[in-house]
Amino acid sequence: MRPDAVVVGSGPNGLVAAVTLASAGRRVLLLEAADAFGGGLRSAELTLPGRVHDLGATVMAMALASPAFRSLGILHDARVQGPGTAGARSRASLGSSVEVVHPAVAAAHPLDGRPAVLVYRDAERTAAGLGRDGAAWRATVGAAARAGLALTDLLLRPLGPWEVPSVATLAAAARFGALGALPATTVGRRVFRTVEGRAVLAGMAAHSVLDLRSPITAGYGLLLAATAHLVGWPLVRGGSQVLADALVARLRELGGVAVAGHRVRSLSELDAPVIVLDVTPRQLLSMADLPPRYRRALERYRYGPGVFKLDWALDGPVPWRDPAVEAAGTVHLGGTMEEIALSEAEVAAGRHSPRPYVLLVQPYAADPTRGGHTLWAYCHVPNGSTTDMTAAVEAQIERHAPGFRDRILARHAMTTADLEAVNPNLVGGDIGGGWAGLGQFVRRPVWSPAPWRTPLPGVYLCSSATPPGGGAHGVGGWQAARLALHDTR
Ligand SMILES: Cc1cc2nc3c(=O)[nH]c(=O)nc-3n(C[C@H](O)[C@H](O)[C@H](O)COP(=O)(O)OP(=O)(O)OC[C@H]3O[C@@H](n4cnc5c(N)ncnc54)[C@H](O)[C@@H]3O)c2cc1C
Repeated sequence: MRPDAVVVGSGPNGLVAAVTLASAGRRVLLLEAADAFGGGLRSAELTLPGRVHDLGATVMAMALASPAFRSLGILHDARVQGPGTAGARSRASLGSSVEVVHPAVAAAHPLDGRPAVLVYRDAERTAAGLGRDGAAWRATVGAAARAGLALTDLLLRPLGPWEVPSVATLAAAARFGALGALPATTVGRRVFRTVEGRAVLAGMAAHSVLDLRSPITAGYGLLLAATAHLVGWPLVRGGSQVLADALVARLRELGGVAVAGHRVRSLSELDAPVIVLDVTPRQLLSMADLPPRYRRALERYRYGPGVFKLDWALDGPVPWRDPAVEAAGTVHLGGTMEEIALSEAEVAAGRHSPRPYVLLVQPYAADPTRGGHTLWAYCHVPNGSTTDMTAAVEAQIERHAPGFRDRILARHAMTTADLEAVNPNLVGGDIGGGWAGLGQFVRRPVWSPAPWRTPLPGVYLCSSATPPGGGAHGVGGWQAARLALHDTR
């Protein structure tokens, strides 16, 4: 039977789009190029049998804060567990809902010769640990967290034509924007006074994969840190694939059909009044004959730096010099704000940093079900880089955890090309769906009052190349699906 809608690609955006359309009674066909569903939510035994590694997203702060995932009601939030806590589950997984588990420490930032900075779910405890910068933390990150989901909703959910924000939400956004519009290094120097305060802001802001001297990088850092207090930085119990599988199951329960191992090469293959594409502009260019103006706009779309990713199977926990780091789900390595800013500036200029900023995730801090001590980390590299950064990444870990290399049982490395081979959306190893700088927002080809709509009738873009950008939040898919339902009601 001819479907009402075809969704191409099963990353979080494609899955949320498919489930949203099916929930509204549409007959949905979901087509995925890879042999497994999930895109950035996939997990696999990358190192040793029984060891579950996430290929992409592990930390689900964006999903938990996301209005899209909240609307689906699929994530069930369990109580904090991990080293130093009772380790009990508050409730068993419910039906098709997926359990997220919180590490005792959301993020840690080790520093040479000093205790690590620890970011807890509790803003006050975090501020207390920052000493002379406690007040600055409360006034910036704390204020954004206190503004609540209304603020994250506005920032994560750019307006569709059918929504008007409240005055209170606009006021909170204006206060956030006054600092958020600035470079992270500027806010670091003007607002924070200690090595610790500046470093932790830089570690957060560097998730943007931008030169930290450029505008809006403070905004990325402050917002991300605020989500740690607002919803926490949890992981999916059992691996992110569990969430992808639950979304596919939900789609099938609603009568949808999901097919893996089917790569769509041309839109002419598809026959449905609504087509939702979880692909980035470069892929869309090869899939359809597009009006010249839109084609040129897609050709101008800019991709950001790539990542070099490592997964390890260890025979025990990372031997952090500061033992408090063991309880952290996420660890930011790279030292002071100045060091991290230098490393990101090198990458932004198209060079490899010899002492890179490293983003490391230790799922075992919260989830004992992944087959032992598994670990992943990546560093930023120029787009399309073929350089093996294993030695540089492991040196940054050894710097704060001497003896780390002795714990390695097996390792799995992925260059930017390896990443793109697994998932064609990771163009040149760019995991954010495109460069996240201010210029992209100004000239983003798909940025319009309804940026998920393309000039082709019934065809929508929903990947992380559409607002609000990268992260496992599903908002692009949710917005594109709602727009399609609105257009075809
Ligand atoms: C190493 C890594 C770590 C990350 N860590 C985090 C994290 O901890 N937290 C977080 O929030 N985010 C994280 N991210 C980012 C997050 O995974 C992405 O932002 C998110 O997955 C983007 O979702 P998406 O649906 O737009 O696309 P993707 O998840 O990339 O999915 C796109 C899907 O479309 C399929 N596809 C593409 N073209 C076609 C075609 N022609 N036909 C059929 N199928 C097609 C692909 O195979 C893929 O399955 C990480 C990403 C990576 C790579």
